[in-house]
Amino acid sequence: MSDLCTTLESVSILSRGLHRVSDKEKNKGKISDLRESLQHRETEIDLLQRTFTEIGSELDINNLFQLVADRARELVKAETLLIPILDENCETYTYRAGSGINSGEIVGESLPLEYGVCGWVWKHKRPWWRGVLDELDEGERNRWEKQAGTLIMVPLQGKEHFLGGISAANKTDRHEFTRRDLNLLTMFAGIVSVAIENAMVVQQMEQTNRLNEDYRRRLKIMNKQLLESNRELEFHALYDPLTSLPNRSLFRDRLSRGITRAESSGTKLGLLLIDLDRFKDINDALGHDKGDQILKEIALLLQQYVYPDDTFARLGGDEFAVILPDSGREKILSRANAFLKALEKPFQINDSTISVGASIGISIYPEHGDNVTDMLCRADSAMYSAKKLKQGITLYQPVNDHSPLGYLTMVTDLRKAFDNAEFELYYQPQIDLKSNEMTAVEALGRWVHPRYGIVKPDVFICELEQIGLIDKYTTWVIETALAHATDWRKHGRELKVSVNISVNDLLNPEFTQRLESLLGSTEEGQLLKFEITENLFLSEYDHLFDVLEHIRYLGITLSIDDFGTGYSSLSRLKKLPVSELKIDQSFVTDMEKSQNDEVIVHSTIELAHNLGMSVVAEGVQSAATLQRLASLGCDLAQGFIISEPLSAEQFELLLGGPQVKVG
Ligand code: C2E
Ligand code: MG
Ligand code: MG
Repeated sequence: MSDLCTTLESVSILSRGLHRVSDKEKNKGKISDLRESLQHRETEIDLLQRTFTEIGSELDINNLFQLVADRARELVKAETLLIPILDENCETYTYRAGSGINSGEIVGESLPLEYGVCGWVWKHKRPWWRGVLDELDEGERNRWEKQAGTLIMVPLQGKEHFLGGISAANKTDRHEFTRRDLNLLTMFAGIVSVAIENAMVVQQMEQTNRLNEDYRRRLKIMNKQLLESNRELEFHALYDPLTSLPNRSLFRDRLSRGITRAESSGTKLGLLLIDLDRFKDINDALGHDKGDQILKEIALLLQQYVYPDDTFARLGGDEFAVILPDSGREKILSRANAFLKALEKPFQINDSTISVGASIGISIYPEHGDNVTDMLCRADSAMYSAKKLKQGITLYQPVNDHSPLGYLTMVTDLRKAFDNAEFELYYQPQIDLKSNEMTAVEALGRWVHPRYGIVKPDVFICELEQIGLIDKYTTWVIETALAHATDWRKHGRELKVSVNISVNDLLNPEFTQRLESLLGSTEEGQLLKFEITENLFLSEYDHLFDVLEHIRYLGITLSIDDFGTGYSSLSRLKKLPVSELKIDQSFVTDMEKSQNDEVIVHSTIELAHNLGMSVVAEGVQSAATLQRLASLGCDLAQGFIISEPLSAEQFELLLGGPQVKVG
């Protein structure tokens, strides 16, 4: 500002001097020079004043730079004027604005801090002009003279920071820049630097504001995303992602609330555990993607049978569950039936027809439990017996209980069963369909429990296997069956007795040895048939082959039980020393009604005969089936139409009476 005052002062002194000269009219040439110089100064003052007004109201940094460049060029009458400004990184400077010749090509260019005249000015924080050359040593002077002889440059020093500079090149009138030009430009720079610094602060503030805005916007988006993932997490914590049904956690919670409500309203509540029967096979056969699709379809299908107050959930794998509030025993059973029937119907997935079937276990509040764990355990135990006994639906019964408490009781009871001789063998006749005579009999185990009465083998055999007592039991069965058969032979009835052998027996390395010691001779062995299920061959084929050979060597006939329910092909079975096939009752019982079943039975008989095996049809329940089987060439038949399994006493009564015949 002091430079400006000096200039204004000198203008007024000159003006006064001019009056004196004009008065005396001594030197017209001098007067004309002074007038010209005065005009120059007035123009300069006018320019400076305009610049101050303009820059005072300009806050846009780029406009401001441009304004400064234009006005400075006008002020010092330069061909080119440039505004180099230090960059934030303090390593480079950039030409931010320019005016005049070639400025368009230079503006925007960034150069290293130490480069050129700018570098000199930054370093010395002093203006550059030709006069500076006199201060330099010769070498340096030569260098700079070539580069910067026609340049003036002044630093732009803000209140807080060093900003950059204003650089002018080549006077428009081809003269050199004078010290006066330098002083003018220095004064100009002093004034505009504050405005530039302010505008830069404003720009920084705007940038910070923009960043803030941006940050706030991003924060908002992140908050939204967080909310969504929270919702998703919550969903995953409580719902099954595949079917979108409540999962086990949510189900337990709903069951707990249901029990509390039932308790306060004095109502009953039913819990159904639905486990699909053939899902694993379907999944293995069709692949997991199809399996998932089937589970989704099943969820949708069952949903149609769910009432608004029920809770329907997927507990995992192929296990679904339903809570039926405010329902008595009859209603619960009929609702379970509706679910079961829905699952029995085959349904279409793409081009395949699939029927999965299910087993449903039921527990009822309050009679089977008054808390979530007991209710679930009991429904689970019921579901397992439904599956084992192929009953479809089973209501919880303590005797079928495999839950820790029920299981422990059963294990203790089973151990006692041997000492107390609670096992019995029941006998079910097998009829020769050509002679219509009973030629064989199947021995079926029963456990006469002191409290629960007769317990079926489906329940206890598997437990015996698990607690390692199956070999003891099988030894007893073979001994007992053999004793009865020998006795019947003594009384003139030669009957082969079929004994069911568990896979655990065959895998026991001592089995054949024990068998040898049980049989006095191969004659005794010829009184026995061993029934083994086909699935047993899948895993331990090679080892079992030797065991089966040994059994046959002892005179015992080998029979494949429940044929058709497993995975063995006849060609594979052919390689085993097996001479009889028992077609599973699931194909036989309804073969009169189902064309499919009849085809299966027929072709199995044909194939078995071709392979030199005889065929037994089990589960024959009607005379028509019996006749049909005879006409298809089946060798033996077994089933309720002939006789139910009978206790030894009843069976002996039957033997003593007229011969069992058909037709
Ligand atoms: P399995 O060997 O297939 O025995 C036939 C089953 O079908 C018997 O059930 C029998 O009572 C039943 N049954 C017979 N005729 C008919 C009919 O016309 N209709 C219907 N619906 N069912 C009929 P059980 O006695 O309950 O035996 C079930 C299974 O338990 C047996 O199936 C067998 O695999 C196993 N098992 C039985 N006793 C023993 C045993 O002493 N040891 C071993 N390891 N398993 C045994
Ligand atoms: Mg059997
Ligand atoms: Mg069977």
